Amino acid sequence: MAFILCGEAVKQTVTPTPLPDPYWVAFSTDAAKLIGLNLTSDHLPSDPAWLQVLAGNTLEVADRQFSEPTATAYSGHQFGMWAGQLGDGRAILLGDIQGQEIQLKGAGKTPYSRMGDGRAVLRSSIREYLCSEAMHALGIPTTRALAVVGSKKTVVRETLETAAVCTRLAPSFLRVGHFEHFASLQMYAELQILADDLIRNFYPACADSTTPYLDLFKAISARTAELAAQWQAVGFCHGVLNTDNTSLLGLTMDYGPFGFLDQFQINHICNHSDAGGRYSYQRQPQILHWNMACLASAMLPLIEQELKQANPTQSEADLSNAAQTTLRSALALYPDLYQTAWERHFRAKLGLLEIQSEDVALIEALLQLMHDNQIDFTTFFRHLGDLSALPSNNQNSPLRDLFLNRTGFDAWLEHYRTRLQQEHSNDQKRQQRMNLVNPKFILRNHLAQAAIEAAQVDDFSELTRLATILRKPYDEQLEYDAYAQPPPPELNAIAVSCSS
Ligand code: AMP
Ligand code: MG
Repeated sequence: MAFILCGEAVKQTVTPTPLPDPYWVAFSTDAAKLIGLNLTSDHLPSDPAWLQVLAGNTLEVADRQFSEPTATAYSGHQFGMWAGQLGDGRAILLGDIQGQEIQLKGAGKTPYSRMGDGRAVLRSSIREYLCSEAMHALGIPTTRALAVVGSKKTVVRETLETAAVCTRLAPSFLRVGHFEHFASLQMYAELQILADDLIRNFYPACADSTTPYLDLFKAISARTAELAAQWQAVGFCHGVLNTDNTSLLGLTMDYGPFGFLDQFQINHICNHSDAGGRYSYQRQPQILHWNMACLASAMLPLIEQELKQANPTQSEADLSNAAQTTLRSALALYPDLYQTAWERHFRAKLGLLEIQSEDVALIEALLQLMHDNQIDFTTFFRHLGDLSALPSNNQNSPLRDLFLNRTGFDAWLEHYRTRLQQEHSNDQKRQQRMNLVNPKFILRNHLAQAAIEAAQVDDFSELTRLATILRKPYDEQLEYDAYAQPPPPELNAIAVSCSS
């Protein structure tokens, strides 16, 4: 739902820069359903004008005219520091269809491009495309990717690369940084309109409350805590969790140097440029909490206003103190929400149905063992479901063989089996349940890299194959077993840079 405000500090109309001789690199038939596109038997839009639209070369297709493409301003904290105004520097919103905003990422300069060229390279566009669609298939809230359109136009990064446009879809691309933008410029009317828009379109339950803005903050924070738990449970590392990359709808967004864990390392850093590990795997939940603190701070004027309406005679100072106390209490709800969600996800990964207080220790002991033994996160959990609750004939050996510390694993397994036996659940049913939450296929960096390298020489077959496999991450798809394997040692540590 396009944000309704106008004005330079909010958004500006901007025409996409044409991309010469565009061609299809990837197209998601699944995402296309969201906007009701008619497709040909080749699974591409039946109206060829869509290629030109998604390249930014025309604003007209069939009976539709995207009459006012826009870019929005936002601000944010990057790596923990206030970065001031940022904005859609290379993403242009065409308009919306069926409640989905259509955004062209890499469609040229906008008034918020600062020093950038407004472009995105093929490599990062493919990564964003693959991961958006893979996350959706995993059941994790995310912005979607409709297509990648390529061109031979060159762009300069560390090396010379070619440009591409990735078309993203989402009900809204609003970020914590949008609130921070208005708060930092003391644009309180806009701050309120933004909050009202969000409530009307995405958080309607808040409208019935006597404290709608406080409830809005709590609802955003709750969605964010749930998202953090889902990332941890699938081993996803975002890489650049700045407040301008943090969705107000609890979506995974702005895919950059992200990575899925291969070997489980609790302190894994997927972003080559994050030397200090601010955005390491284990810190993600805390960092999103920190980002919620930035949101709370930006929403303070709204909460003050809310309190003032209820207590019109109170002094400004008292209202300000009360608003801060109220927000601090709301912010303090996050750790418990996160912890509860985290436990729910990991219990499910272990196939446990009942809640028992010792489960956290059981999960943590497993993660410690996996960390110490550098166990592949996805493969391990996928195969954990194969184990019988009753020990018999070395049935556990393939999993056990993964561990250097076998006695450590045996001790853990004994506890786990005792726990499974308490639930009296049938092995087969438990395995079925576990296979619905422990994916077989994730977007491993080495797989993305192979698809990118082929696409860079105009072979898109690997990209299409990988996207197809990742659409069903919980299915066995036996013919694609090779795609479920951990990377070979020489491809274990592909460093992903921020450059995109
Ligand atoms: P990111 O880290 O990709 O989320 O980007 C941070 C900010 O830089 C956002 O405001 C982007 O729009 C902007 N940005 C990144 N790359 C470019 C580029 N090539 N041209 C213009 N703006 C860019
Ligand atoms: Mg960003």
